[in-house]
Amino acid sequence: MTRSELTQHIKAEALRLGFDVCGIAKACAVDSATAAFCDGWADAGLNGTMGYLERNRDKRYNPTELVEGCRSIIVTALNYAPAQPIEGISHYAQGADYHKAVKDRLFMLLKSINEMTPCQGRPFCDSAPVLERYWAVQAGLGWIGRNHQLTIPGKGSYFFIGELMVDIELDYDNPFTGTHCGECRRCIENCPTGALKENGFDARQCLSYLTIEHRGDLPENIGKKMGNCFYGCDRCQTACPHNRFAKPNCTPELQPKDELMQMTPERWHSLTKEEYNRLFKKSAVERCGYEQLMRNIRESENGERKAEN
Ligand code: SF4
Ligand code: SF4
Repeated sequence: MTRSELTQHIKAEALRLGFDVCGIAKACAVDSATAAFCDGWADAGLNGTMGYLERNRDKRYNPTELVEGCRSIIVTALNYAPAQPIEGISHYAQGADYHKAVKDRLFMLLKSINEMTPCQGRPFCDSAPVLERYWAVQAGLGWIGRNHQLTIPGKGSYFFIGELMVDIELDYDNPFTGTHCGECRRCIENCPTGALKENGFDARQCLSYLTIEHRGDLPENIGKKMGNCFYGCDRCQTACPHNRFAKPNCTPELQPKDELMQMTPERWHSLTKEEYNRLFKKSAVERCGYEQLMRNIRESENGERKAEN
């Protein structure tokens, strides 16, 4: 099998396994402007308490430092757009834990490559110092919008990014150049907290960060800005005109449980620990424990009450 045939086989396998898009980039150090931007962002403390975003910079800026012998990065995207959004819970967290859904498929892809040629590889999905959106652009998947999300032409931004770093040479895609944002600023205009700025992003103000990563009390009066979102926030994505192309995902693991679909504001208000465990077992929402989720629900209810008065 030639390198070109192997490359085509890998891309076809990725789609067969359920990924929506697959591209391949050569593994090397990231460009100096990207590294400088990430350094500046973390050094300014805009990452809040997410200390892991400051560590392992050598590995973050060069995948060959993360995976010895890595020569190619196979980048995949898996759609998570829901058929029917569930109020309060961010789109990406409505089914089972995405880390596993993506990595399971990447392990299957690695197995399939090994049926063709010997190959060592490691899969990643939001779980290691990898500049995932940067590599998605390098692999030609799409551009990073003003909302800081990977946006795929004709598909939108509701995608999990996964990478398989392998020790074999493959044919490489051309990086995606430019953006399709044009003069649009809808994501910035629709961000309720001002976390999204013209030239940056302050995680400390972002509702996704505050409701999921931030421990302790929430900032005063944040409830009004939360609206009815108590786990994450999708507003900079729902506002994006490119998401009119989003189609409901049909990945079995990412479908919400019936019980979750039937939740009402009253049931969220009186959610018990037992119900929480049942609703969110093996879900990304486990990252935010029961107490923290209830903190968020209370704050969101307070905000809604204040907005009515
Ligand atoms: S997730 Fe919400 S709070 Fe965070 S940047 Fe987007 S719109 Fe703003
Ligand atoms: S809302 Fe507009 S500016 Fe923001 S990412 Fe989408 S196209 Fe770009």
